[in-house]
Amino acid sequence: MRTGLPRQECAITVLGGPTAVIDMGGLRIVTDPTFDEAGPHGYLTKSAGPAVDENGVGPVDLVLVSHEAHPDNLDERGRAFASTAPLVLTGPLAARRLGSPAVGLSPWTVHSVPRADGGGDLTVLAVPAVHGPEDGERDADGNINCEVTGFVLSGHGLPTVYVSGDNASIRVVAEISRRVPDIDTAVLHAGAARVPAKFGGRPLSLNGRGAAAAAAVLGADTVVPAHYDGWAHFSEGLSEIELAFHEAGLTSLLRVTAHGTWVRLTR
Ligand SMILES: [Zn+2]
Repeated sequence: MRTGLPRQECAITVLGGPTAVIDMGGLRIVTDPTFDEAGPHGYLTKSAGPAVDENGVGPVDLVLVSHEAHPDNLDERGRAFASTAPLVLTGPLAARRLGSPAVGLSPWTVHSVPRADGGGDLTVLAVPAVHGPEDGERDADGNINCEVTGFVLSGHGLPTVYVSGDNASIRVVAEISRRVPDIDTAVLHAGAARVPAKFGGRPLSLNGRGAAAAAAVLGADTVVPAHYDGWAHFSEGLSEIELAFHEAGLTSLLRVTAHGTWVRLTR
């Protein structure tokens, strides 16, 4: 489906890979934009293009970039798309590299975005993410793998939505749960990405069982899995995620629809 995505009152759709569109508060928000067609991206291979391209997504109010260093989270057309947005929120190092309109948020800092529905502000809280095993080698900036930022979106009358970014750490999820006890929806990158050269091939993001554990720790009412397909380096896909939630008795939390179709968000 490459046709347009009509605006929703409060809903999310995953387009493939990490890319999701969230309509809330009268705003259209796009996370980790990736719009390239399938093909090689340096050391990674994209296996599917987006369900809806940037023209179908149309004008965006806010782009959230968990990290800009990896092409599966920000590819060429995603980068071009972000550069034309009125505002990009990301981490401080990523913002320095991306330049305007990117604003860098350190973990546990907030950026307020005026809503278009008259409901006041959308509050965007930056939260930590760990892009590999806890004992993984740190880069020059002190991050495991690289700086990655997660986000919690909230506002008066809106559901509270956690977007994990590429995070492999249940410890971080537990910390977020302690600080933000009322998360309604968790968008979890859950494909257990693995790259042989990094950390002995150990996962760089949650697997299905980790996503189920994260959902339980967060006490989320709904979970939207993302970043489990569209690239060759995922070691788990939707079937493993569904099995893990089934085995944990948490199937009722999962919201999975065909890419490019909406999941309504509620409080
Ligand atoms: Zn990454």
